[in-house]
Amino acid sequence: MPYAVTHVLLTIIVIDLYRDYIAKKGSISLHTVLIGGIAGLLPDIDILADWILSFFGYGVMHGTITHTPWFALLFLIPGLVFQHRREKKKAMLYYVISFGVFFHLFLDWFLGGGYHLGVMWLYPFSFWTHKIHLLNMFGWNHVPAALDALILILWLWHEEVKHKIKDFI
Ligand SMILES: [Zn+2]
Repeated sequence: MPYAVTHVLLTIIVIDLYRDYIAKKGSISLHTVLIGGIAGLLPDIDILADWILSFFGYGVMHGTITHTPWFALLFLIPGLVFQHRREKKKAMLYYVISFGVFFHLFLDWFLGGGYHLGVMWLYPFSFWTHKIHLLNMFGWNHVPAALDALILILWLWHEEVKHKIKDFI
């Protein structure tokens, strides 16, 4: 199951690769990359919500409503509003948040995480779930910690070569 660190790290890396190689120069700020990384963890807020609700005798099941494409699409609304007002930077911020949430679902679906039966891709039209859960499939549950370290080192190396880490100073 991807750790919190894996979610944030991989989301930042994917957004920054897009920023470096695909996006128009200056269209995505470093601030936006950081917020996008945090958004990559946002769906797991259901764990916190469940903990708080438990004091009042309620609960929310992990990996359900915040782990549906609807939750990701929600952030497109402010994005489109800002786009309409020609506030491109703000619009981009919300598009990136939407991507971060969606990418969380993808990682939970592909590597393993969230609801044990998988992601409800068609919610609220259907409760059908699907999963790949690659890490569980191969019994690699202990791998993510090493994977995080490897990804981080490769990434820092990329940053050194690409920017001489200028971006982060
Ligand atoms: Zn999750």
